[in-house]
Amino acid sequence: MIPVKSLQRTNANGGIATPREHGRVRRDGEDWRGELLRAVTDVPHLLRLVDVHASEIKAATGQDALRLDFPLRVPRPYVARMRRGDPDDPLLRQVLPTTREYETVPGYGTDPLDEAGAVVDTGVLSKYQGRALVIASGSCAVHCRYCFRRHFPYADHRQDSSFESIAAVRHDPTIREVILSGGDPLMLTDAHLARLLGELGAIDHVTRIRIHTRLPVVIPQRVTPALLETLADVPQRVVVVLHFNHPNEIDRDCAATISGLEEFALLNQSVLLAGVNDDADTLVELSERLFDTGVLPYYLHMPDAVAGTAHFDLSQRRAVALHRQLQARLPGYLVPRLVREVPGGAAKELVLADG
Ligand SMILES: *Cc1c(COP(=O)(O)O)cnc(C)c1O
Ligand code: SF4
Repeated sequence: MIPVKSLQRTNANGGIATPREHGRVRRDGEDWRGELLRAVTDVPHLLRLVDVHASEIKAATGQDALRLDFPLRVPRPYVARMRRGDPDDPLLRQVLPTTREYETVPGYGTDPLDEAGAVVDTGVLSKYQGRALVIASGSCAVHCRYCFRRHFPYADHRQDSSFESIAAVRHDPTIREVILSGGDPLMLTDAHLARLLGELGAIDHVTRIRIHTRLPVVIPQRVTPALLETLADVPQRVVVVLHFNHPNEIDRDCAATISGLEEFALLNQSVLLAGVNDDADTLVELSERLFDTGVLPYYLHMPDAVAGTAHFDLSQRRAVALHRQLQARLPGYLVPRLVREVPGGAAKELVLADG
């Protein structure tokens, strides 16, 4: 781990941090909560920030009047990595609602993975052997338009229920690994997270703690010294699974932050998204940048058949062809597994055939 305090150094300018250096020392305190409050929540505002005129965006609404069932939410540190004046920017595309979300497409539903059926206790999803997924927080720092949980009834699984989830884990000795997910578990305060991890740490049959989060991607300041200490205190092995979809998401600041997590196992899962990352050059660069940052590619998910996201989907034939190109161009350990979720399956299913 980077000793964060050692970054709080003075510099040749007589101790006044330049903006660049400021980016490296800002990780103490609660800046990330300020960034949450400052997140962009309306489309015209977002378009103004990235210098894109609504008329330039094919099929984009750009309208205040559009009532979104899954509202816009984009933290500014993420907006800062979007290319100005580019309506096709791959980061913008992940967060900008379009009218295509209202198309009704046969075969796309609100709970295609039948997650409602997998909830064994308030806030616990138990689909796969030995692993329990705990909905530690119902909210996210960013609203990804392709999200497979955009219709999930998070209100029924509020964060104050996460301690009930722990009781369920405690009473099931077959659970070896607890996955904190959501929403995004790092939406919890450091104090809340410390309590949760403290309780999990006391359960003997749990040998691994996994955290699925996109927060360090969209608000790098979330990786606070308190968070690093909390994770370092966990008696089990800690695995952090990040969610980067595009190499442009990994700028210098973000990479420096992620390196701060290097004492944990760092993996990445991406979603294969039409118009965002569905070309081999982009995916190769993503894998390479991840590795340079200390992260191994883990999964490349086929989009799920979630209502409102059909425009991100691509055929299995194209997905497999892309994956073959990755295999041809990258060392094996930098090729993520191409998977899809099949309701009722014993694991996420490897996508191998042209289909
Ligand atoms: C994806 C997922 C897991 C983890 O699966 P791995 O293949 O071990 O990464 C566990 N529980 C649920 C409910 C999941 O959706
Ligand atoms: S961070 Fe994950 S859970 Fe949250 S909106 Fe994005 S894809 Fe969905």
